[in-house]
Amino acid sequence: MSEERQALENLLEENRVFEPSADFTAAANAGPDIYAEAEEDWLGFWRNQALNRVSWFREPTEVLDDSNPPFYKWFSDGELNLAYNCLDRHLETQGEKVAYHWVGEPGDTRTITYRQLYEDVCRFANALSGLGVERGDRVAIYLGMIPELPVAMLACARIGAVHSVVFAGFSADALADRIDDAEAKVIITSDGGWRRGSVVPLKAAADVAASRCPTIEHIVTVKRTDSEVVMAEGRDVWYHDIVADQPASSDPAVLGAEDLLYILYTSGTTGKPKGIVHTQGGYLTGATTTHHYVFDLKPDDIYWCAADIGWVTGHSYIVYGPLANGATGVMYEGAPNYPDFDRLWQIIDEYNVTIFYTAPTAIRAFMKWGDQYPAGHDLSSLRLLGTVGEPINPEAWMWYHQHIGGERCPIVDTWWQTETGGIMITPLPGAVATKPGSATHPFPGLKANVVDEDGKEVPLGGGGYLVLERPWPAMLRTIYGDDQRYIDTYWSRFPGSYFPGDGCKRDDDGYYWLLGRVDDIMLVSGHNISTTEVESALVSHLSVAEAAVVGRTDAVTGQAIAAFVTLRSGIDGNEDLIAELRNTVAEKIGPIAKPASIVFTDDLPKTRSGKIMRRLLRDISEQRNLGDVTTLANADVVQEIAAQAGGE
Ligand code: ATP
Ligand code: MG
Repeated sequence: MSEERQALENLLEENRVFEPSADFTAAANAGPDIYAEAEEDWLGFWRNQALNRVSWFREPTEVLDDSNPPFYKWFSDGELNLAYNCLDRHLETQGEKVAYHWVGEPGDTRTITYRQLYEDVCRFANALSGLGVERGDRVAIYLGMIPELPVAMLACARIGAVHSVVFAGFSADALADRIDDAEAKVIITSDGGWRRGSVVPLKAAADVAASRCPTIEHIVTVKRTDSEVVMAEGRDVWYHDIVADQPASSDPAVLGAEDLLYILYTSGTTGKPKGIVHTQGGYLTGATTTHHYVFDLKPDDIYWCAADIGWVTGHSYIVYGPLANGATGVMYEGAPNYPDFDRLWQIIDEYNVTIFYTAPTAIRAFMKWGDQYPAGHDLSSLRLLGTVGEPINPEAWMWYHQHIGGERCPIVDTWWQTETGGIMITPLPGAVATKPGSATHPFPGLKANVVDEDGKEVPLGGGGYLVLERPWPAMLRTIYGDDQRYIDTYWSRFPGSYFPGDGCKRDDDGYYWLLGRVDDIMLVSGHNISTTEVESALVSHLSVAEAAVVGRTDAVTGQAIAAFVTLRSGIDGNEDLIAELRNTVAEKIGPIAKPASIVFTDDLPKTRSGKIMRRLLRDISEQRNLGDVTTLANADVVQEIAAQAGGE
């Protein structure tokens, strides 16, 4: 491999810096010292978090067991229960505090206190036991964003069953695949789910999946939409029937720190989803610690993570982290643009939300819809913003900062994965100055690095492969049923280090800038160019809402950059704009990165979690058959883009 191919080019320069206000810093949960303190004794740091944030039935004496890498164990002689940590322990001090302000899509609402949530969880835990669900059994949960979803997860956790939440936007086939892989015994679903004013027939999809999955013994159905459903005698039961006569208390199972808590499948951006396994004690330690410091949680905060619980973000930062930390959260059932494009801003206004966490893909959609929607609401209650899911383009960051944060709120750009269980690279909002598009620094106690092909550290100012050089408590334990794939996927490329699959650069100040998937890196005339930088240059143009670029084979340059661009509302694409966009890229990052072709499209292919699926655009550009499309959200757009790209 030649010299210049070793590292990833560092092309885009972003020099804006935002310091937190003095007031924010003075009151912050974490000051700058936390980094050095954690570094001095990183295992001691995690031990303290585990002992201070988690209630144990039996306190662990052991921190990390690294005798059989990469099968690390954390706090392994500890015993605990996560539902107890999220509910029971709050009853005495804050039983009447609101756990969730829930907002249904049609406009109905529920206010749920910690005591009510505790009672609902106990009733359902008792009901699940009554159905024969035992410790270690897998339970598939296929529900929209209704209160019964966290109730079901916590009921499983209470009795020691392993939940596998499947995003309610997935098809019957995708549900069946996940049930099969986990050999789940029960499905928990609802008669239907609300989505943009219509009903998604969840029970019907569960029926199809169950007909294909012999391990399923029961389907529990929550009544949500009053839709007609077919109930199979003996197999199917209504949620409201089985909880009706249950006692509103139950003993939490005493579980080992390394017992399974859940399986969750990755979102499938790069290929076939992986069944990620998380366990109890380390996971809760990671979720509570990061939630406390990254979101600077205070007792009076109204905290809203607008992700879906079907993704890991919802597991860690709607359910386990916030509840164990005793937070008041907002939970919204429906689409952000129903009934109108201002729905989220209306909810922030009404509930006086103080902390708001969403994804770059959502922010780019807000930009596309127009500034007037947030402008019509009072967002002055907000004090902190966050993003997760993809690299955030600096222009999207700036828009979020100005139009949602009122130029007053720190933004935490949090890099992490289903596999990591919790936030890994992130600003601590009172302690770190932010730069638009940078996730800044590893969380205290972690050790990250950027390395080249050979695993050698890339000096500051350069790019390469992100690696994690120490285990951490909330890390995945394996891929369900496939230890070898766990080793091959994460621990083989750079022996001794965890390889997440993402490219990254560090600037001269040591800030981390995530550069997208290494599978997506383009090789143009001997230069490794990241998708993120070229896309961010395109998005910096005022006409552009969203962009995706891929490398397609080119006889001269090896690969040529093909760009797919979505314009902001009211803008038409034409030849002049194409020329202008190519020039913008040349100016921002250099002529080498100029797209060879630009196709305008109304939308980009995305996973159901909203991430751009570049591998499909690559297939289109190379005129290949499309790879695995089971996690694709918008199949139509692929045909449209293929037609347009073909006509170039
Ligand atoms: P699959 O592994 O099946 O392809 P996926 O990686 O999209 O799916 P997730 O675990 O939901 O599934 O996503 C994690 C990935 O999302 C990270 O590896 C990274 O590429 C991207 N990501 C998440 N947050 C950020 C962020 N703040 N900045 C940059 N990239 C991010
Ligand atoms: Mg991944």
